[in-house]
Amino acid sequence: MIAAERSPDDRRRPSPHSRPGRGPPVTLSAPRVVVCGAGVIGAAVAWALARHGVPAVIVDRGGPAAAASGSASGFLAADWNAGNPLDAMSRASFALHRELADELGAERIGYRPLEVISAATAEEGDLERYRRLPTPDWLDGRVVAHEVIGTTATAAQVDPRRFTTALVDDAVAAGARFVSGVVDGLDLAPDGTVRGVRIDGAVEPCDVVVLALGPWTDRAQRWLALPQVFGTRMASMLLAADAPAQAVFSEYAAPGGGGMQFRIYPRPGGTVYITGRQEHGTLPDDPAAIAPSEDSIAELRRVAAVHSSRLAAAGELARSACHRPLTVDGLPLIGPVPGASGAFLATAHASWGLLHAPATGRMVAEMVLDGGSTSLDAAPFAVGRLPAGRR
Ligand SMILES: Cc1cc2nc3c(=O)[nH]c(=O)nc-3n(C[C@H](O)[C@H](O)[C@H](O)COP(=O)(O)OP(=O)(O)OC[C@H]3O[C@@H](n4cnc5c(N)ncnc54)[C@H](O)[C@@H]3O)c2cc1C
Repeated sequence: MIAAERSPDDRRRPSPHSRPGRGPPVTLSAPRVVVCGAGVIGAAVAWALARHGVPAVIVDRGGPAAAASGSASGFLAADWNAGNPLDAMSRASFALHRELADELGAERIGYRPLEVISAATAEEGDLERYRRLPTPDWLDGRVVAHEVIGTTATAAQVDPRRFTTALVDDAVAAGARFVSGVVDGLDLAPDGTVRGVRIDGAVEPCDVVVLALGPWTDRAQRWLALPQVFGTRMASMLLAADAPAQAVFSEYAAPGGGGMQFRIYPRPGGTVYITGRQEHGTLPDDPAAIAPSEDSIAELRRVAAVHSSRLAAAGELARSACHRPLTVDGLPLIGPVPGASGAFLATAHASWGLLHAPATGRMVAEMVLDGGSTSLDAAPFAVGRLPAGRR
């Protein structure tokens, strides 16, 4: 536990990172909270609230980790946002992930530290000018290692689906309730104060709603004036192959020009996750309807084979596509929604939702229960910094 980061009234409530079930009983004054979305952000918010002794209702149309949070890479880096407004959140959240690995169980959530190397790959031409390091044996294709860009002190990984599900399961074990359903509106008082959330047409009464809908935040513009959130789409695959705890960030040059930033993440237990292929496509309402194109899968397989004979021979375990939620300034939206008392946004974490989930969950719990974030400066992520609109 990080003593300096605890909120002022910790004597009354446990910090968001003390053990669940050990908090004080929920008092009559505890707010009734509905968390919309059980991706990693909603899961982390519900988990942190449970730590404060406030069991939320968690709603998702597809179950925990139904969208990007179930099919992301799960890469975590402490210092890759140095020099930008995300830096403090990255460092704090990286440290929280280590604590969570102890509490939830590293094996249960697929947590482990990683080395990260950058590499150059091409099917033709001279690669030797990029070589700065001996290339690891398992990368036996047309690839050269360039630089170590992350060490086990600064880089790690989780299995995104297992991590998100563990947070939801532990929040539920501490009293939260998971509801499978579609959020289709809010019940607002005439002055805009939140009174409830409409789930499949029926109102669940509440004092606080946290919208953690990822790229579906734009749908919530029907109910509230909110900043625009976009989704950028990527395809990925999970292969059955053994490789060391060594992630590879590879610049792949395609024959005749073009290429992609190809990523390889070996995971514990004999699997390797690969991604890098961008896709275009609108966001369907149902996350289950998001699938990668055959072209993307063929391209990912082809480029994997250029890197390694192990990857060339590997069987396919899963394929997916997912939308990363993004704002125009690239920063997440974390905080109260102006003009709608009781409504909070926690979304638009772009490429770093897995990394930033623990710090975001803690910040939102502090905002809801203490009136403001005490662990980190939330000003760069304020919802009111961007123009808001309705649909
Ligand atoms: C290929 C890829 C690799 C990535 N790799 C990494 C990485 O290595 N590290 C990292 O930190 N981040 C990574 N990311 C980013 C990360 O996946 C996202 O930032 C994060 O998952 C977003 O989480 P979320 O909870 O905001 O949204 P989501 O995971 O999209 O969850 C939103 C949830 O809301 C639910 N929902 C939507 N509308 C409704 C409704 N009306 N009613 C009920 N439920 C609803 C959906 O079912 C969904 O479960 C990656 C993303 C991609 C695409």
